[in-house]
Amino acid sequence: MKLAVLKERRAGEARVAATPETVKKLKGLGLDVTVEAGAGQGARIADADYEAQGAAIAPDAATALKDADIVLKVRGPDSAEIAAMKKGAVLAAMLAPYTEKDTVEKLAAQGVTAFAMEFIPRISRAQSMDVLSSQANLAGYKAVIDAAAHFGRAFPMMMTAAGTIAPARVFVMGVGVAGLQAIATARRMGAIVSATDVRPATKEQVESLGATFVAVIDDEFKQAETAAGYAKPMSAEYQAKQAALTAEHIKKQDIVITTALIPGRKAPVLVSEEMLKTMKPGSVIVDLAAEQGGNCPLTCADEVVEAHGVTLMGYTNLPSRLASDTSSLYARNLFNFIALIVGKKTGTLALNWDDEIVKGAGLTRDGAVVHPGLKGT
Ligand code: NAD
Repeated sequence: MKLAVLKERRAGEARVAATPETVKKLKGLGLDVTVEAGAGQGARIADADYEAQGAAIAPDAATALKDADIVLKVRGPDSAEIAAMKKGAVLAAMLAPYTEKDTVEKLAAQGVTAFAMEFIPRISRAQSMDVLSSQANLAGYKAVIDAAAHFGRAFPMMMTAAGTIAPARVFVMGVGVAGLQAIATARRMGAIVSATDVRPATKEQVESLGATFVAVIDDEFKQAETAAGYAKPMSAEYQAKQAALTAEHIKKQDIVITTALIPGRKAPVLVSEEMLKTMKPGSVIVDLAAEQGGNCPLTCADEVVEAHGVTLMGYTNLPSRLASDTSSLYARNLFNFIALIVGKKTGTLALNWDDEIVKGAGLTRDGAVVHPGLKGT
């Protein structure tokens, strides 16, 4: 069976779906691997490095896709790529199914069996395939590094002969995978860190990292987590109480990192313009929710802007800015998924649709959109 790895074509996407390490492992499954020329460029991987592990290099996407049974990508394919895929081919990529419905429909029409890596259920058996975690972890780290680079002061307290420099105060809003890594990174850099979330489980996690937990703890807060471990949309009353508490806290912060998301919905507004006006000049907000509308209404997606003396950073693809590391983790996530769907002895596709991982990530099959979360949307 032929497996193709395509070059990413979207502006600002530097990651790649396979590394020389995973090419070797994919070959070990009995697959013939073809990599499109230049696919690894953004992640600093040369074509020759893939070739050294046994991959063939194709000059363009159409050649790579010809007769390919499995296709690996980082982001969803464009129309030309979809048109070049053969009927019955399997595609695994981060397909953003809620926002890129058109792509999902085109894949179904082409007869491609598409898997969205973001939909892999977060069960223990699938932890090694969890792309949300592998990418968000590095995004949380990079958010703090970006903030520090734009902040005109130091992070740690410094006692010098010329006097003492006060430590920076960092407030992390939303303590999922990215938020936890942001807390840990800011703490390592010597900042005084606080954090908030609506899920009760996060209080202990925040405190175990040496940060202070700031939240309205009422009955609604105690029920704010879904069975899948995600946040529920909060009531208008709760949001008002949360805003009052945040407004007081934020005045004293230097850096605010917002990561609050609710799957499939617009991000909640947590930092209003009124709050932003009370922040100290020179403060920095990194809005990791920028792609879903932002946790601050003044955030501009993919831009760094200044408002009321505060820098707002709205990069929508922080993982791409650490492309070597994020590609390496993403490629391993993909390999682990492919190892699940390729028969070990036969080297052929062995899709078990009763497996909750296959069922959870599967979007299209036999010409139709089959994921229950997408049907009729
Ligand atoms: P996410 O990216 O969906 O959201 C980020 C954070 O924003 C979440 O912690 C959420 O509670 C928070 N949030 C939402 N609305 C908010 C509001 N109004 N105010 C403040 N915070 C708000 O989250 P994620 O990083 O994908 O993690 C979600 C869950 O998945 C967590 O429970 C995490 O522990 C769990 N998880 C499980 C596994 C696994 O078992 N394999 C792996 C990774 C994560």
